[in-house]
Amino acid sequence: MISVTNTKDLYDTYGMQVGDQVVREVAKRIIGVIDENAFIGRLDSGTFAICFEDGFTAFMVQERMNQILAMLKLMNVTETLTVSLRVSVGMAFYPDDCAGPDELMACAIAALAKGTKAFHDTVTRYSPHMTMELQRRRNIQSQLTKALSNQEFRLFYQPQFCAGANTLRGFEALIRWESPDSGLVGPNYFIPLAEENGLIVPIGEWVLIEACQQAVRWKPIFGDRFIMSINISCMQFMSASFVDLVKSLVVELELQNMLEIEITESIFIGEHKEAHLALGQLHALGVKIALDDFGTGYSSFNYLKSLDLHTLKLDRSFIARIDMNGSDAKIAECIIHMASVLGMETIAEGVEKSEQLEMLTKMGCQTVQGYLTGRPIPPDEIVSRYARHG
Ligand code: C2E
Ligand code: CA
Ligand code: CA
Repeated sequence: MISVTNTKDLYDTYGMQVGDQVVREVAKRIIGVIDENAFIGRLDSGTFAICFEDGFTAFMVQERMNQILAMLKLMNVTETLTVSLRVSVGMAFYPDDCAGPDELMACAIAALAKGTKAFHDTVTRYSPHMTMELQRRRNIQSQLTKALSNQEFRLFYQPQFCAGANTLRGFEALIRWESPDSGLVGPNYFIPLAEENGLIVPIGEWVLIEACQQAVRWKPIFGDRFIMSINISCMQFMSASFVDLVKSLVVELELQNMLEIEITESIFIGEHKEAHLALGQLHALGVKIALDDFGTGYSSFNYLKSLDLHTLKLDRSFIARIDMNGSDAKIAECIIHMASVLGMETIAEGVEKSEQLEMLTKMGCQTVQGYLTGRPIPPDEIVSRYARHG
């Protein structure tokens, strides 16, 4: 099974005509490599299945797959356009891995899924633990669907403080799953799985509505100047109804200038025009936009100057090193300075030690968030602990 995993991005970026042309060229190149006694079929826009007849050893198949991978890396679509393809290959064998054709397909899909998740440009051979892993993921995904209808999700809130002054800036809403079987489950466990099957969109909508309603309940306690910060996954941000939902919440609940959307730079990979458009609309509504986890990934300064961003969140992994390592401290200081020149606020995430707080304050970082100033806790505890800061 061969999959060009960035096919959708290619269609989104270059349009239908170029997308189709790339897929046709991929098929042509695969056919050029495989022998007469193999069958090839297209399963979806960027996925092809190849079935080799009896007599092909694992070594022979692997060799051909490596050849295909090498040929698909870069593709000249026109004289001026070269695209880079991300390709994964999953391999399974009958009768070594399975009992029949349906199972053979399922095993190849499991190997492909494993390869796509872990690395690109590699050939992944099926092993039985992959079926177990796929089954485990499907089980959790079906539990998540039930969790949504059974209202098992909760929001915890973590305070953000102005560095130096100890005044409350606002709260970041962080989802938890109160599972009847496993107790309180953190988002790193289930958000990636919800993103994988699209469930993140309804879960994210629940988060958005719940956090906005919480902000309304807290107005009499903390005033109407605190900020409610909400994490938004790429898929949710790109969903058709997202901006309209934010708009109706801001207007109906009177949350102008109180809402902040935390996004990551993955949203802008592939130059999504829709993402830029949505950002502009949110900005016009008085919704702040924070770029989360800055310092990981590409951390392109291009985004900072070209987008309507209000806040830069310096990643926790980065903050963890600033008091140990001179060069990380210098980089942090430069980022804070640059953000301030561009008119942006910087929030340092994961501040755990008073030395870090002190250093960040000296560097001009406006806001801090971390275990030092407060862990994520349920909303009733937020009130009893922080009401005096309102
Ligand atoms: P994030 O947006 O970077 O959130 C900060 C994470 O760091 C939170 O983990 C928080 O509990 C943790 N944290 C805060 N201060 C400290 C500290 O001083 N030290 C350490 N070691 N950790 C600290 P959490 O709650 O487990 O969330 C993990 C990630 O899950 C979040 O990372 C975010 O990407 C995602 N997430 C959480 N809630 C939502 C949500 O409602 N929607 C979406 N799409 N993603 C969410
Ligand atoms: Ca966040
Ligand atoms: Ca973060």
